[in-house]
Amino acid sequence: MQETVRYTCRLRPGRQAERALLEERGRCRWLWNEAVHQQKTGRKPTFCKLSKLLTAARADLPWLRDGSQVAQQQTLRTYAAALDHSFKVKGRRKPVIKRRKDAPPSLEYTVRGFTVRAGRLVLPKGVTVPVVWSRDLPSQPSSVRVYQDSLGHWYASFVVTRETGQAPDADGGIGIDWGVTTTAATTDPAYDLPYGGHRKRCAAELAKAQRKMARRRRQRGQAPSSGYRRARREAAELHKKAQRQNTHTARMWAKRVVDNHQTIAVEDFRSRFLARSTMARKAADAAITATKRELIERGMRAGRKVVLVPPAYTTMTCAECGTRAKERLTLDERIFRCTACGNIADRDRNAAGVILAMAERGHAGADDVRHAPRLPSGVAGGMRSELEIPRL
Ligand SMILES: [Zn+2]
Repeated sequence: MQETVRYTCRLRPGRQAERALLEERGRCRWLWNEAVHQQKTGRKPTFCKLSKLLTAARADLPWLRDGSQVAQQQTLRTYAAALDHSFKVKGRRKPVIKRRKDAPPSLEYTVRGFTVRAGRLVLPKGVTVPVVWSRDLPSQPSSVRVYQDSLGHWYASFVVTRETGQAPDADGGIGIDWGVTTTAATTDPAYDLPYGGHRKRCAAELAKAQRKMARRRRQRGQAPSSGYRRARREAAELHKKAQRQNTHTARMWAKRVVDNHQTIAVEDFRSRFLARSTMARKAADAAITATKRELIERGMRAGRKVVLVPPAYTTMTCAECGTRAKERLTLDERIFRCTACGNIADRDRNAAGVILAMAERGHAGADDVRHAPRLPSGVAGGMRSELEIPRL
């Protein structure tokens, strides 16, 4: 079996190439904002209509013609897909204006618009960028996304196909409940993922850097001081570091879970419930989001049964007998006691058990059963979307 995946490599554009990339991004941003305007003024911009407008605009405007047609068309394609999702996917909002200061550069090229020659990425209009090949591509890439992160580093994300690796045979199920002190509490204590170590330290350092930023911030309308800019850079670097460590830990853990279980029942955690309040909480929240994403992706790739369970009532229900308690546990009560069967269990372990039971039985305990709309497969550049997973 073949699977479609992304391989990301660091780019090291020279001064000229970087300027060319930023100019291309400017043109694409202008197009995106035009499309948003079309939508706002009720002209229902489909990709077909937008393409025609692009052709007309390129004939009229020499500065637009200076850019790559492939990158510009891809911008409109991405816009049209985003608009389409805003109608079909629950919770997805309409695409909005991209501002220069907060929309990071991102350019897409299909196979028509780029080649890899002598280890370099060759883009239209004579732009050549050296690539740091951290690993060999398993196939010819079918498209590439060139983007810049918050630290100003450039990356190329190639879409490639490769043979699906065989996951080891496994049976049995695992239930996973997300939390702040323990990122993942599972039905089997051996698979618990504690929150802490370097991620906690990163959160503390990040909070410190942000306090420094706050002290150095000038009033509105004044140019930021160089001290402020330094502090901002420091915070951005720490943020990236924490993010990378999250991803790494998440990958190691998710691999272990997926290799050893056939059914993976995951609490359908939505970050907005936790993301208010302190830096430490936000960091814990980011850890959960990264871990959940990694687990789902690996589970689906290995062909496991991955089920997302809505978190409603999972902490109030008994994992042994399925009786729902009359009252909610307060946050400081760590032990769950069942009044019906006398089961006593750790609060998070019990919730994980309920999640697993619900996944195995279809929907047992919870009244709140929701169905997310399904996206047609092949959206988002051929990658499987989280929305294709069955939800309870
Ligand atoms: Zn019970």
